[in-house]
Amino acid sequence: MITTYHRPTTLPEALALLTRPDTLALGGGTLINTPAFKNRDFSVVDLQALGLGKIQTRNSLLEIGATVTLEQLRTCPDIPSALQQAIRQEASLNIRNSATVAGTIVGRDGRSPFLTALLALDAKLTLENGETASNLGLGEYLALRPHGLITLISLPLQVKFAYEQVARTPADLPIVCAALAQWNSGRTRLALGGTGTTPLLAMDGTEPGGVAAAARNAFHEANDEWASAAYRMDVAATLASRCLENLPG
Ligand SMILES: Cc1cc2nc3c(=O)[nH]c(=O)nc-3n(C[C@H](O)[C@H](O)[C@H](O)COP(=O)(O)OP(=O)(O)OC[C@H]3O[C@@H](n4cnc5c(N)ncnc54)[C@H](O)[C@@H]3O)c2cc1C
Repeated sequence: MITTYHRPTTLPEALALLTRPDTLALGGGTLINTPAFKNRDFSVVDLQALGLGKIQTRNSLLEIGATVTLEQLRTCPDIPSALQQAIRQEASLNIRNSATVAGTIVGRDGRSPFLTALLALDAKLTLENGETASNLGLGEYLALRPHGLITLISLPLQVKFAYEQVARTPADLPIVCAALAQWNSGRTRLALGGTGTTPLLAMDGTEPGGVAAAARNAFHEANDEWASAAYRMDVAATLASRCLENLPG
């Protein structure tokens, strides 16, 4: 349970507090307040007074502060409609109103529509660690889970983007989802979700005709209690092709 609550107003103060043992950043608190966190004592550093709740455009990038909520991002007019859909699939309205973008990146797994979408869009994170700030891609972050406070998430604005999913019900988390981003240069990135600890990057290249084969290959071992790998390979190939067809003109 939470034993101490801090609400710093400057980033250096927050970073100093986060070096203390058993101290966690507090975003929307929707994960920290679940039973999974009840069996240990820890302090929290609430990020809400740090001024990290803004969304702005800079040099054809959308810069999203760490404490922007999922619903604030979903209703931002600058994001593609398919990204709005992926955010809607992520959680109910009540959770979207509390959960932050950074907390979701840290807390969610391979079934996350939002993480899958961000991976396809090649989102970049700014990670603060005491004296140093580093920029890294979401794929690298998910692979390494480095220690540090996420302060900013950047997305490219001038890309075409599509998202498709199959789930048990329209509002459920996906069993398979596909997100496809295409740059003016022809660069095409396909990410798949619906299983595992993180979404998978299935393709990053300039041959969009290969998306179905790439999707099939990426899910070769995607067996779990929800679906077999054979099922996922077929569905992922279909969804990837559908994403390519549905890219905005
Ligand atoms: C009813 C309900 C259902 C849910 N269902 C699911 C589910 O099906 N699957 C699932 O995975 N989750 C689920 N969650 C968990 C939760 O909604 C998400 O993980 C959420 O998006 C977390 O965002 P948050 O801002 O609330 O994070 P918080 O709870 O505030 O924090 C989550 C984690 O991220 C860290 N963190 C927060 N901000 C930062 C930052 N800026 N930099 C570095 N670390 C940071 C925290 O220290 C903590 O470890 C559910 C929650 C609720 C209440």
